[in-house]
Amino acid sequence: MTVGNMDSAELFDAGKKGRGLRATKELYAGDVVFSEPSFSAVVFDSLATQVCHSCFRHQDKLHRCAQCKFAHYCDRTCQTACWDEHKQECGAIKKMGKAPSENVRLAARVLWRIHKDTGIVSDSQLISVDQLEDHVADLPEESVKQLKKDVHTFLEYWSYGRKQHSVDDISQIFGIIKCNGFTLSDQRGLQAVGVGLFPNLCLVNHDCWPNCTVILNHGNQSALSSALHSQRRIELRAVRKIPEGEELTVSYVDFLSLSADRQKKLREHFHFECTCEHCSQHISDDLMTAAAESEGNKPSADKVREGTALTKECLQKIEKSRVEQDYNTVVKLCCECLEKQENVLADTNLYKLRVLSVASEVLSYLQSFSEAADYAQRMVQGYIKLYHPNNAQLGLAIMRAGVTHWHAGQIEEGHGMICKAYGILMVTHGPNHAITKDLESMRMQTELELKMFKQNEHVYHSMRDAALKVSSS
Ligand SMILES: [Zn+2]
Ligand SMILES: [Zn+2]
Ligand SMILES: [Zn+2]
Repeated sequence: MTVGNMDSAELFDAGKKGRGLRATKELYAGDVVFSEPSFSAVVFDSLATQVCHSCFRHQDKLHRCAQCKFAHYCDRTCQTACWDEHKQECGAIKKMGKAPSENVRLAARVLWRIHKDTGIVSDSQLISVDQLEDHVADLPEESVKQLKKDVHTFLEYWSYGRKQHSVDDISQIFGIIKCNGFTLSDQRGLQAVGVGLFPNLCLVNHDCWPNCTVILNHGNQSALSSALHSQRRIELRAVRKIPEGEELTVSYVDFLSLSADRQKKLREHFHFECTCEHCSQHISDDLMTAAAESEGNKPSADKVREGTALTKECLQKIEKSRVEQDYNTVVKLCCECLEKQENVLADTNLYKLRVLSVASEVLSYLQSFSEAADYAQRMVQGYIKLYHPNNAQLGLAIMRAGVTHWHAGQIEEGHGMICKAYGILMVTHGPNHAITKDLESMRMQTELELKMFKQNEHVYHSMRDAALKVSSS
């Protein structure tokens, strides 16, 4: 399949939701519905010197653009591949003496591209950028203030011959970026490193229990010639079987929140009311707030309320210690909190899962792998009951838990989890993604170790049997 191919999806009128995309043929879990290069993208201000401005890989050593001294690249190939995108920006940064914020840089890149190519860059692009939703009229006062500031900086920064834009036009571009900007992560998917605009992806509506997931593919950067250097692009991948004609959806928010909280977030960030099945029927809300139950004994409602309030308070303290990098205190607080939750909150309760997640992460960092593995195991068991089986977040959590078990010397559990994570990521990320490739080699390594362990165990048992025989004869 070629980049930008739109054979599997078409634009349609999705009723109240406005425009949408639907499948034009039956799709299966792991199928790439379409892939799309970014219309424009920028690296975050805070990472401008650590992430390549062309391929968005996090690298230890980057080369600086000699002209503007702002843009950084892996090598000449990356720089050449991105020159078209950077050319005008380079001049503008030099003129201004410093680079403006990421929002302003992205807005300018979008406008430069629109001038060069008009809002459509290929036949497979279904919508021009200026037709995307901007919701400028719905912005709260605080955001309007920021928008005005950004527009002001933009006017100072912008240069395109004599071509000038009205404040309204520029505000619209900022609005489009705000509601459609897609966060780009580094090659391992571990850190958010930038933001970009993908027009076709913007047409995919939200569902809290979606049939697709979106993943950033950094392309093939090993090619030495910039002509063969494939572009960074997103892939929309099916997470289950999708019949022809069904609307394609992705989730704009993480599923692990109560339906009312997800709806609030979607209202504030994306300006719509989510009426998906999971929100309207409050599916899994009961599990996410559940009380512990053992042998038919349930704690009283008061006790659950008290336990929840204590956890909320504790999570604030945990966060504070974490920011201060006082990790021993974080662990102490987590353990105390989990003790108080015992027999009060269920293992699928969101508050318990948050504490388990922090505890396993920080203990791994402190290299207390056995303890970390116990917490990770409990967390994953909760996640499995809540997430869709092909959810990318679930896959990544199982992967981390597997690695923790492996480090803890629990090779059997570790290998099992790594295999499970691999199965999920083959669907959500595909076989060519860097994380899937990492998982593949971990899977082979742990398989080998497991074999050795089993062999040794066998040797151990047969030796013991032999010893017993000798002593009994
Ligand atoms: Zn690069
Ligand atoms: Zn430059
Ligand atoms: Zn929903």
